[in-house]
Amino acid sequence: MKLTFKYPVYPTSTQEETLLAWLDHLCELQNSARHDRKVALEVEDRFVTLSEQQDKLTVAREKYEDFREVPQDFQNHALRRNDKAFTAFRKRCKEGAKKKGYPRYKKRVRSLTWSLRKYPKVVRRKTKDAEKQTIRVRENPIVETTFRHNRLKVPKLGEVKIRMHRPLEGDPKEVTLVKKASGWYAHITCELPDTRKVEPTDAIAVDVGTRHYLTTSEGEKEDNPRWYRTCEGLLHKHNQTLARRKKGSKRWYKAVHAVAYHHERTANKRKDFIGKLVYKLFHHQENNVLVAENLKVSNMVQNKHLSKSISDASWAKFFEWCVSIAERDGLHFHQVDPKNTSQTCSACGKKSPRKLSLAIRTFDCSFCGTVLDRDHNAALNILLRAACAHRGERWVTNLTEARNTNEARDAGLENAEQLSLLTLLTSPSL
Ligand SMILES: [Zn+2]
Repeated sequence: MKLTFKYPVYPTSTQEETLLAWLDHLCELQNSARHDRKVALEVEDRFVTLSEQQDKLTVAREKYEDFREVPQDFQNHALRRNDKAFTAFRKRCKEGAKKKGYPRYKKRVRSLTWSLRKYPKVVRRKTKDAEKQTIRVRENPIVETTFRHNRLKVPKLGEVKIRMHRPLEGDPKEVTLVKKASGWYAHITCELPDTRKVEPTDAIAVDVGTRHYLTTSEGEKEDNPRWYRTCEGLLHKHNQTLARRKKGSKRWYKAVHAVAYHHERTANKRKDFIGKLVYKLFHHQENNVLVAENLKVSNMVQNKHLSKSISDASWAKFFEWCVSIAERDGLHFHQVDPKNTSQTCSACGKKSPRKLSLAIRTFDCSFCGTVLDRDHNAALNILLRAACAHRGERWVTNLTEARNTNEARDAGLENAEQLSLLTLLTSPSL
């Protein structure tokens, strides 16, 4: 398992100058690497490999002074990033995807990465007739001090102040320095042993929405904070200021920074909320299985009326967090097919004959008379689906529409059976 720890770092002004110059260099390098591949593809109809480009880099480093000034590791990682984009592009071409997404020209690069290597270290045992022994140790990027800030070792730059607000765990493998509007950050990726999965006992399902952020299968609701909507007014102000200033002037750059900082803060708020919410769902009620819908968010944002709200809620980020927290703490996260979860009665399993629009907030079953909150009903359906998937069955709705009568006859789980499935969820066999 890999975990990334983020810490703020505080380079001095000279260090920052060097770092910015390096970022510019890496940007140029990445763009020229992209250009190389593009020409090779258009003229010779072949793909350039990463090792070819790395060889070229070695030659360039022997030849030019400015190439030697930047650590080779940073350059290699920039090339690797470019290679990753092209590999993904090739994969999309092979699969015949509609949007192939040719890797873009980069206007700027905001991060630089280096790997932490293992180096041989001579160790002498404490016994008398001990021999020298060499072991391979990974270099520790952090220099501990007695002051408030520790120091981070950066190749060719020296030590940079870093605030270690939490201890580093595991074996650090890679460090990335990122420039954001609020300052510089170090992302340290560590390798940790995998957490053992616990035996699944208690499950909870969530139905995400835009009115309430989510509704659990126990009927609890979480308010949607609508970060973007609340910050929209101020953002508009910032953008207005930006538009009125002379492009390229000092005051214009200040306004650009204000807009970027505003966006970063909104994103941070969102991340904070989602992280805490996922933790709460898993740990506050001792649920070790979380079930959600497998939503195609990229398709859903095509809806012009809902796109802003959906993007603001960032469900994809929520699911991402669920996956990673589950992996970190040895818990379970499942996603089920979202089809008709809000159109089906959770008690009798029959699909509503009339399509429920988003405005109707209560689900009123015309077959068994169940009246439930719309989202609560959907969450129960999601839980039911996951339970069936766990038992190796496929859950089918009893389609009651006239055109689907045959399907409805073939489909059917009996009502009683469906209900017993629901009670199964509370039993420890799940
Ligand atoms: Zn019903």
